[in-house]
Amino acid sequence: RSRGSLSIWERNMAEAFIALGSNLGNREDEIIRAIREVNALPRTRVTGISRFYSNPPMGPQDQPDYLNGAVRIETALSPLSLLDALQGIEKSHGRVKTRRWGERCIDLDIALYGEESISSERLTVPHLGIEARDFVLRPLMDIDPSLTLPSGEKISELLSKLDQSSLTEAPFPQFSLE
Ligand code: AMP
Repeated sequence: RSRGSLSIWERNMAEAFIALGSNLGNREDEIIRAIREVNALPRTRVTGISRFYSNPPMGPQDQPDYLNGAVRIETALSPLSLLDALQGIEKSHGRVKTRRWGERCIDLDIALYGEESISSERLTVPHLGIEARDFVLRPLMDIDPSLTLPSGEKISELLSKLDQSSLTEAPFPQFSLE
């Protein structure tokens, strides 16, 4: 289809990055299912998928390791509508609130939304602490090595300052978005 016939929602698309994590149940299945569900959200499509990484938990250490990854999306959803949608997906996976930084079958965070800096009660974008989290920055690098934060900082430079030794690349599963 030619560029001249893009529908209205396609012309209003923003590029955003979602960080995914799981440390309960079949972590890989949880993440793949969540990626498919993100791709199936209204006016949204997944345009890039990172490698998956195994990573020790942040916070309480008496919980399983996480599997982390990220996707790039194009979406016409506003940041808050996207947050609602992601929280709906988390609920549908049976996610229950435990302790702070506690175990969860799926965690979906808006890492970046275009060039926007958002600071509201429900939403902080870029995601809080992103500069120091190798398990978020490394998957983002897989998708777009030239990515920068709204501050202008390059994620490649931020990542090079981090230790990264606890991050282990996991085998990348075969799956389709359908
Ligand atoms: P968590 O338990 O880590 O999933 O945190 C959930 C809370 O973080 C929710 O109440 C969200 O409103 C809030 N939040 C703030 N910024 C973000 C973001 N960028 N992505 C996802 N949740 C966010």
